[in-house]
Amino acid sequence: MSEDPGPGPALDRAGELAGEPDGFQRLWTPHRMAYIGGENKPADGAPGSGCPFCRAATLPDDEGLVVGRGPLTYALLNLYPYNSGHVLVCPYRHVADYTDLTPDEVAELGTTTRVAMRALRAAYAPQGFNLGINLGDVAGAGIAAHLHQHVVPRWRGDANFLPIVARTRALPEILADTRSRLAAAWARAAADEPAVQHDEGSPAC
Ligand SMILES: [Zn+2]
Repeated sequence: MSEDPGPGPALDRAGELAGEPDGFQRLWTPHRMAYIGGENKPADGAPGSGCPFCRAATLPDDEGLVVGRGPLTYALLNLYPYNSGHVLVCPYRHVADYTDLTPDEVAELGTTTRVAMRALRAAYAPQGFNLGINLGDVAGAGIAAHLHQHVVPRWRGDANFLPIVARTRALPEILADTRSRLAAAWARAAADEPAVQHDEGSPAC
């Protein structure tokens, strides 16, 4: 029995975890191995139970790669990151389209995105971000049935020749370590987020 060189076991069970396959290979550079996820997760039979985003939300945070949760939305690591710290922000509800979200879900999707940015800045000091939602297969959504916003931290020089010549992305940190760092930064990042004001009366001018 040879030691597994990377997070292969997690990728073997990719159908149980959340992420968007993009055709790239991942070159996991740390010489450490971590199992992410686990065996024999119960199916819950709820709508969208075959959906990795619905499933991840029901798992313990470390197993689902969840980095933070709000009442209506949560954030987790992409199993197929473009960069270290690639976070996906989702509503708990299994909805496909941005127009299907309630106003409160829209607001919290934005808030959770901001918290994710603050946590990433605290943990990794990225110099920029790519934010975006792909709606529909044709637009590039890997899992179109459950809306998710990408939060991709960027550093100058983070893209190198590997994606071009080898369909491979180099990732300097394994997902379990990234999740731990972001989850640890999450509470402080959430505390820095201004409280949402819900105006019930007539609109102020
Ligand atoms: Zn779902």
